[in-house]
Formats: sequence, C-alpha cells, structure tokens
Amino acid sequence: MYSLRVFVTIALLSCHVAAWWSPTIDEEIDKKTVYIDASCETKDYEGGAFANGWFHALGSSHEVIERVASHNDHDYHAVVKRIMKRVVSDEDDETQLDEIMKYFEQLSVLSIIDSLKDADIRIFCDDDAVSTKENPNTRMVFVGNDRLEDRYNFMAINIRDSCRYVSADAFTVIGHYRIQTLWNGQTAHGQKSERMVISICKRGLQPMQPPFNRYWQGGMMTQQLANDYGINWMQNTAAHIIVHELMHALSDGQIFDLPNAAAAYGWRNVENMDQMHAEENADSYAFMADAALLAPDWTITRLWAPPGCPPNVVERETSAKFGQLAHYADRSRPTKRMVLRSTGNETEQSIRVRSFLEADPRFIMAMDEDSGISRP
Ligand SMILES: [Zn+2]
Repeated sequence: MYSLRVFVTIALLSCHVAAWWSPTIDEEIDKKTVYIDASCETKDYEGGAFANGWFHALGSSHEVIERVASHNDHDYHAVVKRIMKRVVSDEDDETQLDEIMKYFEQLSVLSIIDSLKDADIRIFCDDDAVSTKENPNTRMVFVGNDRLEDRYNFMAINIRDSCRYVSADAFTVIGHYRIQTLWNGQTAHGQKSERMVISICKRGLQPMQPPFNRYWQGGMMTQQLANDYGINWMQNTAAHIIVHELMHALSDGQIFDLPNAAAAYGWRNVENMDQMHAEENADSYAFMADAALLAPDWTITRLWAPPGCPPNVVERETSAKFGQLAHYADRSRPTKRMVLRSTGNETEQSIRVRSFLEADPRFIMAMDEDSGISRP
C-alpha cells in the first residue's frame, strides 16, 4: 500500500511540471475606464446593493486570478474545469485560459473616471425611465415603433433590450452595433466609438424574497442554503449581475448569452455547457467569480466521477451538477483521507475500488475533502 502511495505522489508531482497559466504583467493588460452614473447611488433600491456588488465584482476578479495562478489550489482548478472545461495545468488549454483570464484581468484593473464621454464602459441604474420625444427628460426617449434613443450615450436601443420590456436584472448595449446612422455614423460629441452601456434595472437592485439577497458578505452561506440552493444562491447578488454584464462589455460583445437566452443562465446550464459555449457565455464567468468569492468556506461538491464509480460517488457527482456546496478541510493539499479512512474494513471489492481511484491522480485530487461536513 505504501509503495502505491509513493507512486501516486510521483504522478501528482509530474502534473505540476506542465505549463501553467500565469498572470499577464500589468503593462500588458488592456486597461479600460468606467463611468458610474449617480443613479447607481440615488436609485439603489436596496441601498448599498450596487456598491456591495461593485466591491465584490472587483474583489472576485483578483481572487479568480490568484486562485487560477496558484499551483496547488486543486479545489478552484476543479471548479474551473467544471465551468470552462479547461485544465489549468494543461499546455493544450493554455491559450484558451489566457483568453478567459484576460477579462478577469481587465476587470481587476478597471478604473472609475468622472467623465461619461471618455469612459469605455458606462453604468446606469436609472431603470430606463422613458420620456417622450416631445418632452425628453430622461436618458431613454421613446422615438416610435419599438425604438428608444439613449440621449446620454447616443445610441439607438431596441425596446426588447431595455429594462422596461424584458424581465432582465440588467443588460448591456454594445456600442458599435447601436451607434447608428441616426448620428451620421459619427461617434457623437467626441465620445468613444466603442462605448459600452450597462443598465442595472430596478429589479436587479430591489430587495428579494428571503432567503435570497442582493448583498454578499462572507459567512452568509449556510449549510441549509448550500443544500437547498448551492452556488445558485449567488446568482441574484449584485456582484454576480455586475460581473455578468461587465463580461459582455469588456469583451466588446464577444462574450454573449449562449447558446440562447433560455439556456445561458444558472448553474445547471453553465455546468452542462460545452467548452466552446462556456468561454463565450457571460454567466459562466459570473459563476467563476461566485466560486472564488465563496472560498475558502464553501466550494462546489468536488467529485469528478469516472464511469464505474461506486453509487455514493456518483451521487456526489449529481449534487455537484446541481451546484451544491461543501466544506473542504484543505483546498490546497491533495489528500487521500476519505479513501484511506474507508480501508478499515477491507473487502475484495473495496480494495479493487481503492486501487482504481488511487491509480488516477485526478481522482485522488477530487478526494481532497473532509467528508463534506462543516468545519468548526
Ligand atoms: Zn447577459
């Protein structure tokens, strides 16, 4: 048994020799500016939810970067694999990881400026109050048929893409699709031609029915919430909404809601998504940020179950698919505690199962769990 353990340790170490994603040096990050409209303060329907969301959106981007770059955060790497279907230590996935991480890096260095005109991204929380062409006194003006004009940003908006006509918490308007001939193709009053406009709708900042919350702070997740809602509890937080919208904006619309509005949101969709869709889907990024915020207290039940696993293992896989959360004793150290604990009462079958698990380093990593029970 000991010789087998040595073999497994060597196999794990050899994994670490491979290329690893590392953060881009600061000077090479494409730095963007953001203007946050006063409405995000004055029309923050659950007072402070926007600020809480902004703080955690930025904070989570730093966490994501640190955790992906870490060489021993097997916990978070398993989450990345589950969401993006990419292996952090795999050379073949390096280019795509660069692409994915690029946006978290841009988010982490976003700077707030006071000038709407100069900002790459503009954020409003004015709930798209709409006035008429005859008496225009709001940002959005109804100009007939299904068209609105955004007077501040010089954009034409389809009514379907506004807070008033869809049941979205927020939406992002991609500049170059919407700056139309209306303004003779000019960038209008010296504004940035690639400007992005995020509107956080009233319903994205309103108080929710308990147990949900717009706010996030460490310690809010409980065993009950983890069992009942898992990581999905996070998707209504202002932080989740802001990361989601910023990904649309930072990527210039390359990150979309895929494969379609019905199948783009929520953990189940994100978890089920194929590799190609995942890296272009905003909610996939938002869940990466959520998972980083939940650490180190909670993480997605981490079991990658190969075919032929015993029923209790497959059951854990199902719970991960539903986004259920668990406590882990040590997110950095791959241990075989759970496997070894079960050796007290060995049968021919248990020995066979253990050998099977121990032969696969990925699976041993997945066993880095302290029985899924809360730490003190
Ligand atoms: Zn979206």
